Amino acid sequence: MIKLVLLDVDGTITDPGRLISLRAIEAIRKVQNDGVIVSLASGNVIPVMYGVKTFVGVKAPVFAENGGAMFQNDNITPFFSMDMPKRLFEKLESEEKLKGILSNKWRLTSMAYVPVEGHQAEITSEAESEGLVTVDSGFSWHLLNRGQDKGFALEKLKEIYSLDYDEILVMGDSYNDAPMFKKDVVKAVPANAEESLKTIADHITKEGNGDGVAEILLNLRSL
Ligand code: CA
Repeated sequence: MIKLVLLDVDGTITDPGRLISLRAIEAIRKVQNDGVIVSLASGNVIPVMYGVKTFVGVKAPVFAENGGAMFQNDNITPFFSMDMPKRLFEKLESEEKLKGILSNKWRLTSMAYVPVEGHQAEITSEAESEGLVTVDSGFSWHLLNRGQDKGFALEKLKEIYSLDYDEILVMGDSYNDAPMFKKDVVKAVPANAEESLKTIADHITKEGNGDGVAEILLNLRSL
């Protein structure tokens, strides 16, 4: 039986233009009222996740920066350091290999960027040589500490709520969701998901984005 659902935000509960799905919000509230724990994990920043959590009405802790920081009960908990991502970001920016995005103003544990054309392979290899990783969320690229991913957020939730993997359902649409698609977790993707995620998913919804989320949440018992 699914006791906890961990959802990606952009492209999963939102459409490609980032409008949040009203059907997804209603489904989240309904399953929470039925006793299911719902959490969110995004590449976005704590202030955004604070807003989404507050206004959607998500009760469990939520994760920003691909699992790098958690928000709950007016507490922000960063799990990783900003030092190395920021240092490499500034170097690559000064070399005009990437451009930062607005939300970097509020980042605590990672940096987000758009690569200058032709430079992504180089950025990834420099990151790896510094012990960092890069990932594409489909909305921007992220420069992260090693081990900083949505799988880390999943492990935190598993620990906080003392759950087994098969009591957890994860849902996401992009490359940065792959780390939470662990072996025994129930894995769902909306119809718009990257093909590589579809190949490892247990459930692919008929509809995309938030409509797909509602489709999964409203049928949790029959999965
Ligand atoms: Ca996404």
